Amino acid sequence: MTLVGVLAGLVAGVVVGAVLALALARRRPVPPPPAGASVEEPPPAADVIDALPVALAVLDARGSVVLANRNAVALGVVRADRLLVAELRDLAVDVRRTRTHSEVEVEPTPSPLKRLPEAVRVRVVPVGEQGHVALLVEDITEVRRVDAVRRDFVANVSHELKTPVGAMALLAEALCGASEDPDAVRRFSSRLQREASRLARLVQELIDLSRLQGAEPLPEASVVPVDRVLAEAVDRTRTTAAARAIELVRGGERGLRVDGSEAQLVTAVGNLLENAVHYSPEHTRVAVAARRRDGAVEITVTDQGIGIADKDLERVFERFYRADPARSRATGGTGLGLAIVKHIVTNHGGAVSVWSIEGSGSTFTLRLPPSTSTSPLLSAGAAARTPREESA
Ligand code: ADP
Repeated sequence: MTLVGVLAGLVAGVVVGAVLALALARRRPVPPPPAGASVEEPPPAADVIDALPVALAVLDARGSVVLANRNAVALGVVRADRLLVAELRDLAVDVRRTRTHSEVEVEPTPSPLKRLPEAVRVRVVPVGEQGHVALLVEDITEVRRVDAVRRDFVANVSHELKTPVGAMALLAEALCGASEDPDAVRRFSSRLQREASRLARLVQELIDLSRLQGAEPLPEASVVPVDRVLAEAVDRTRTTAAARAIELVRGGERGLRVDGSEAQLVTAVGNLLENAVHYSPEHTRVAVAARRRDGAVEITVTDQGIGIADKDLERVFERFYRADPARSRATGGTGLGLAIVKHIVTNHGGAVSVWSIEGSGSTFTLRLPPSTSTSPLLSAGAAARTPREESA
């Protein structure tokens, strides 16, 4: 049952009471409690109605608004004693006549004067015996947006999964047909392996992403030495960089610390380094550095690669967005790397940004809040435990 549905039952009773209470209150003042008596006054009905998370409006038998809470005005449903949405006026007439509940989703006519919701869910209920009708209106703009994003995501995932699975089916068929030709068998089986690892990576990244979007953003939060994060991320990228004769350089300040999950931060910096290597020509340089700037810890990954066009800059952090799908696919990209980076950094209270010039290179910057821990021991110990960092 919807929020509006649940509230409708509750509110119908409250509304009848409130309408009567407000009408009576106008006629006679509430007598003061007798001296010495400890009487707990309920809050005024109008305040309770204003505090409801939905918009509420009550119409009398002539269709005039006799009660409206703050949300009803804010959502653009009523102005003074008028119901602004024509479709709702008709619905209220129907409900009054048939005395049955009704629920609809309506898209209010856009107004140049006011920012209205894109869509609202309205439940209309008859209240009392005098022909009153209550309207409970819920803004469902966000619900609809989330639904659309979810549908889009499922469609994208299905498409992304179908590609390697389809390729594997074709390669397996080709393998069967080439059983007499050892060269062809080797060629097909190595392509089969490539597609299988692409599929495995895609599934793993989808699992990572759904965990990052889950309710517990930082299950194993602790003080994290940034030196160790960079050393580990560089270490993971070393083989791919060496295969393309790309030099990995480490610079910046030492001894910085942030609070969070070391494993997640290594994944974030590792994804940036991997991209920097994948989207750079051979014999270039990729640099990773950490420094303190404007009260934050900044980690930058800079490459001399193909860069990103202005039109794509805004979108590269979206799931499955690729500036050049063919190139991404050729490097085994899943289109999820930067979405994962963004989620990790957001979960750490930070932000990620990108600066790039097409054809010259890119710089991705992670900004993270510095650790709030004051323990000097941890930082010194952690720095001493990073023997590999100088070799990057
Ligand atoms: P992918 O798996 O395709 O690399 P990402 O989410 O990691 O997915 O990146 C999204 C897109 O952003 C890439 O397909 C690529 O077009 C672009 N991109 C990311 N990093 C870089 C970079 N360092 N240089 C140029 N383009 C990049």
